[in-house]
Amino acid sequence: MRKALRLANHALHTGETPVACIFVYRGNVISYGMNNTNDSLSGITHAEFRGINAILEKVEATDNWSTFYSHPWDIFREIDLYVTVEPCVMCASALKHIGIRTVYFGCGNERFGGNGSVLKINTDDTSPNRYVSYPGIYRREAILLLRDFYTHENIKAPVPRNKKNRELKLDSFPELTWSNYLSKSEFCDFFGKDKEQCYDLNADVQQDIDLSVLDSDNIDISDIEQSAQEPLQLRKRKLCDTA
Ligand SMILES: [Zn+2]
Repeated sequence: MRKALRLANHALHTGETPVACIFVYRGNVISYGMNNTNDSLSGITHAEFRGINAILEKVEATDNWSTFYSHPWDIFREIDLYVTVEPCVMCASALKHIGIRTVYFGCGNERFGGNGSVLKINTDDTSPNRYVSYPGIYRREAILLLRDFYTHENIKAPVPRNKKNRELKLDSFPELTWSNYLSKSEFCDFFGKDKEQCYDLNADVQQDIDLSVLDSDNIDISDIEQSAQEPLQLRKRKLCDTA
């Protein structure tokens, strides 16, 4: 998630909404996305869509993909998404359609969220491709990036940002209503029984806020770009995967 936050910070510094994601396959970042709705003036160029399209292009560019998968989308059964903001209803539907394995996100999307804030598309009965979704991963850091963006009123041109000119509220965050996203047993299975009180108090699991994700020198994404440019190394599926 720290990589996704770095991408979001990069987006912030190029005048885009600081929402970003990475797709991880076999422990490697194979694709990433940043919102590009300002620059492209398109409402559907959400980070997730950009990342999904890049993966499909990579699969189709791999000569032997049909040896491993019957359809390019099948690879998503082995891919996890880390995204700084809860996928919107549109993206949540797309992620379900392609069969993503797991989604981890930072803050909720109170107006358009499709993984529990507004609708629970990830677990509803519209498709058998239900996926698990874990909220609250670096949630306050994701919120601070959005606050920084809206504090500067969506300026398109890159602007220097540092801690001195920022007037962000660092001590006030909305509650995290875990039950919108996870049952208590799902929460404890993932975060640990010792964190159960956070669920009851609608509190963050992480104690401290990592302000370094907001630093203006934390915007180099060359390692992520390089990882995403590597050709796919497809893996033969185990027999049990096809059962
Ligand atoms: Zn979306």
